[in-house]
Amino acid sequence: MLTDAEMLRYSRHLLLEDVGELGQKDLKKGKVLIIGMGGLGSPAALYLAAAGVGSLVIADFDCLEVSNLQRQIAYATGDIGGDKVALMKHRLEALNPEIRVRSINREMDREQLLMELMMVNLVLDCTDNMASRQMINAACVEAKVPLIVGAAIRFEGQLMFFDHSQPDAACYHCLFPDSEEQTLNCSNSGVLGPVVGTIGTMQALEAIKHITGLPSGIKNKLKLFDGKTLEWQTFAINKDANCSVCGNKK
Ligand SMILES: [Zn+2]
Repeated sequence: MLTDAEMLRYSRHLLLEDVGELGQKDLKKGKVLIIGMGGLGSPAALYLAAAGVGSLVIADFDCLEVSNLQRQIAYATGDIGGDKVALMKHRLEALNPEIRVRSINREMDREQLLMELMMVNLVLDCTDNMASRQMINAACVEAKVPLIVGAAIRFEGQLMFFDHSQPDAACYHCLFPDSEEQTLNCSNSGVLGPVVGTIGTMQALEAIKHITGLPSGIKNKLKLFDGKTLEWQTFAINKDANCSVCGNKK
């Protein structure tokens, strides 16, 4: 049941034929783990909290630095030096007191992540490095939890959705089998705030569609966003039967 306060808060969802009261109840039951509270996690967490996703688990282990503020729009200058997850929890609860937010303020190893995956229906990977993405992917494959991955650098964004609850799902490792640490990241290559914000926003959009049962056009696909031309390119990601993470020979 939605309360009167919720009916009012989510009235623009309720007007949508594709969401409506049933979709809003699905959102209320939704349990999403968002890993990384930076430039991707800021819009992703804000939009999912605003949308009424009933249970959000947010994870990060960084303190806020002044150089984060150019793109990590959930935070303010007065927040510098604070723990990002604590700041974000406060921000999300202020935005929407109807939802529950739990924070994880440490770097999770595989076992801890697998424990957390037992309690959610969906993961948003909003981290900023290849090693974390490979680890999160492998855990989601093992736990059969759908995973929406975002990444951005310079003017370029990447968006992927691997529905690990489905047997035919490809995985991040099928696409990037070379698990060596990628040396490019926002810290040494730069990124425009709206580019990373666009990708984080798309992660939230795909999450809302997934939770409410709307079809996704990006499963097993890599979407590349070019911030200079505003064009998206789409590439199919073929499941690699020999993938060491999701394949037959793992
Ligand atoms: Zn794979």
